[in-house]
Amino acid sequence: MSDEPEHNVVARLRQVRSEVERAARHARRSPDEVTLIAVSKTYFADAILPVLQDGQRVFGENRVQESMQKWPELKAQFPDVELHLIGPLQSNKAKEAVALFDVIETVDRPSIAEALAKEFSKTERRPKLYVQVNTGEEPQKAGILPLEADAFLTRCKDEWKLPIEGLMCIPPVDEPPSPHFGLLRKIAERHGLKTLSMGMSADFEEAIQMGATHIRVGSAIFGHRG
Ligand SMILES: *Cc1c(COP(=O)(O)O)cnc(C)c1O
Repeated sequence: MSDEPEHNVVARLRQVRSEVERAARHARRSPDEVTLIAVSKTYFADAILPVLQDGQRVFGENRVQESMQKWPELKAQFPDVELHLIGPLQSNKAKEAVALFDVIETVDRPSIAEALAKEFSKTERRPKLYVQVNTGEEPQKAGILPLEADAFLTRCKDEWKLPIEGLMCIPPVDEPPSPHFGLLRKIAERHGLKTLSMGMSADFEEAIQMGATHIRVGSAIFGHRG
């Protein structure tokens, strides 16, 4: 394998894929139950292309503006790409987000739910929606608080008619992640939700053990962000 950066990216991608398979088998789950989301935020198209060429189709980005600059062209070349918004959404970006993303993982407050419902009334596009839960109740972090999650999920369904498919969380960096993954799973089970987006480069094995259906892996594939 050469030293060129694109080969490094592909080597790391393949390494992550094999670790995902191993973690799934260890958890007595089928690797097919776990979708790897390659988090390409801050990386330009030249870093993303080799990953696409190696067959990866599911990607995560955390900024609407940045994604609008790089993804329309990449999606034109690879029409079966599934793009996930994993960063905070502002109400005034709902239109752009609905137009570009296939999954919005960060529905976390009434104003966003309202903005999405309004956008859905104007367009045919229907990205899948997940609710982000702030399982660690961290003041600086996005996400609905666990104690408010049940009421919010009910309002999404009854009041805004939003079909929520799953939940997403980002555990605090300085705590063992598994209790947070367990809490997310419990909330999902109460609402009959089957999709759990949890686990990043440092903790996707634990997340798979705890039932993650989607893991969001950035630096383990693309290298450390500058
Ligand atoms: C950046 C980011 C990731 C990926 O983090 P890594 O530690 O680089 O794997 C996952 N989820 C969210 C919400 C992110 O913002």
